Amino acid sequence: MNTIEKFDSNIMHTYGRYPLVMEKGKGRDAVDEDGKEYIDFGSGIGTNSLGYCNEGWAEAVCDQVRTLQHTSNYYYTKVQADFAEKLNRMTGYSAVFFGNSGAEANECAIKLARKYSFDKYGKGRHNIITLVNSFHGRTLCTLSATGQEVFHNYFFPFVEGFVNVEANNIQDLKAKLDSTVCAVMFEYVQGEGGVVPLEQSFVDAIFELCAERDILTIADEVQTGVGRTGKFLAGDHFGHKANITTLAKGIAGGLPMGACFADEKCKDVLGKGTHGSTFGGNPVSCAGGLAVLDYIQSGDHLEQVNEKGKYLKEKLLEIDEISGVDGMGLMLGASLKTKNAGEVVGKALEKGLLMLTAKDKLRFLPPLTITYDEIDRGIVILEGILK
Ligand SMILES: *Cc1c(COP(=O)(O)O)cnc(C)c1O
Repeated sequence: MNTIEKFDSNIMHTYGRYPLVMEKGKGRDAVDEDGKEYIDFGSGIGTNSLGYCNEGWAEAVCDQVRTLQHTSNYYYTKVQADFAEKLNRMTGYSAVFFGNSGAEANECAIKLARKYSFDKYGKGRHNIITLVNSFHGRTLCTLSATGQEVFHNYFFPFVEGFVNVEANNIQDLKAKLDSTVCAVMFEYVQGEGGVVPLEQSFVDAIFELCAERDILTIADEVQTGVGRTGKFLAGDHFGHKANITTLAKGIAGGLPMGACFADEKCKDVLGKGTHGSTFGGNPVSCAGGLAVLDYIQSGDHLEQVNEKGKYLKEKLLEIDEISGVDGMGLMLGASLKTKNAGEVVGKALEKGLLMLTAKDKLRFLPPLTITYDEIDRGIVILEGILK
């Protein structure tokens, strides 16, 4: 049996996969089992933020594996302390909880928001507003939070207490912010929903209305965070800091890690015994994460994410088939005039270019380390397909 056959007969068929067996990575390029190289405009799903097997990152991770791969959260580790301190310093938050994924980070945020409200106001103020077209994860609770009807099937009953508001509709938000609501949860740029940034006025309204009513703000920055949009947090572009922010995807350069941050007001809500994770804050993932933070802090890398994002956007807009490009930094979505995004991604794969889709758009989440030369080479391939 070859790898694909073995896969199909042993692994649940939850993904529509492309016929590519990935063997290794070299810098920004992926290499399949036949030795074919691919320019990577997807970096996993924005997870391999420093590309493949970045030297400093790999060294830090391997050192940690050889020193201490794991210990339970009943004990302390220096690497988790160092990672948390650096993250809190870079984000301005007061405390963090580590899990292993975006969904877990969001679960923590949801539990925190409900407990904050329960502690202060008692029962009945548990509803969380999420936006239509949002995506918050695949666990039963985060799926319930996700504002897309297509996900609300099969698994009944879903978790109660989520109310959807239309993105950028301030009237709808005002109408639903009643006395049952404890938090508003949103992505600054809706990722899976089609790479759609929120409007500044809507974000301003969320923060203003929530502050008046002691309703917490939860920014799901699982996809937008850790430099992806050209700032460490996408909230920095909007001039706002949510009470709670979640990070995952690119935070540890491709190792499992999710983080839920709380500000001064929320930092003590989750006390002893109220939340936990066996693997959360794993030393190896923390070591990888520290290497990602070191990269972002050295030189002008975030400025370069902005510049490269602008460059990629300009190049995409020169292609006739592309009718528009949304997004920020190196998180972009391109609308197509006539072609089907999924088919384009399949053809690109044949020609040696990895891409993603988001709804009916092509989605670009290249490694933050991508070079102009690689952008150019990827664009040449894409142009050829979109002709
Ligand atoms: C990917 C994603 C998640 C889920 O993350 P997992 O690591 O797959 O659990 C949640 N929120 C947003 C915005 C995401 O992009």
